[in-house]
Amino acid sequence: MKSLPYFCRGEVIRGFGRGSKELGIPTANFRDSVVENLPGDIGTGIYYGWACVGNADVYKMVMSIGWNPYYKNTKKSMETHVIHTFKEDFYGEILSVVMVGYIRPERSFDSLAEALIAAINSDIEEAKLKLELPENLKLREDNFFTSAPPLVSLATPANGNATSSQTIMNGH
Ligand code: ADP
Ligand code: MG
Repeated sequence: MKSLPYFCRGEVIRGFGRGSKELGIPTANFRDSVVENLPGDIGTGIYYGWACVGNADVYKMVMSIGWNPYYKNTKKSMETHVIHTFKEDFYGEILSVVMVGYIRPERSFDSLAEALIAAINSDIEEAKLKLELPENLKLREDNFFTSAPPLVSLATPANGNATSSQTIMNGH
C-alpha cells in the first residue's frame, strides 16, 4: 500500500453500539470527513499504528476499517482501539493517528464474540511487536503528533469540509 504510513486526525464521534466496550475493546470512531478522505489504496481490514488523543501521549493502536452495517454497508467506518487504559472516554476530542501497516482482512461481523476477541487480541500482539521495529518507532516521534491542535474548534470547523481536513492531514 503506497499510501502507508498515512497520517490523519479528526474528532471522535459516537459509534453505533456494536458493544466494543462490553467486549473490553473500545473502538473510537472518526467523523465522516476523515473516513471520506482515505486514499483509495487503503482498503478495509485491520491496521496497526500510533495514536494520540488531543496533545497527550502517543500510544500503539490497532484500527479496523470496515463497512458499517448500521448504514446497510454503504458507509465505511474507521475504528481505533488505542492500546492504553484511559480514565475517561474521549468523545468530541481530536484523535491523531498514523496508520503504519496492514495486519489482515476484515472478519465477518457474525463471528462468535470469543473468536472475535481472540482475533483482536492477536492483532494487538502483532501491532505491539511490529511497532517496535526501528523504522516504525521513528513514526511515534513524528512532529505530526506534537503539532496536534488542542481544541476541536481549531482542528475542525463546524462545517468540517474536505479542504480543512486535507490541510490538517498534510500539515505534519
Ligand atoms: P462507540 O460505539 O461509541 O464507538 P465503544 O464501545 O466502541 O463505543 O467505545 C468507544 C469509546 O470509548 C471511544 O470513543 C472513547 O471515547 C472511549 N475509549 C476509552 N478507552 C479507549 C481506548 N483504549 N481506545 C479507544 N476508545 C476508548
Ligand atoms: Mg466503537
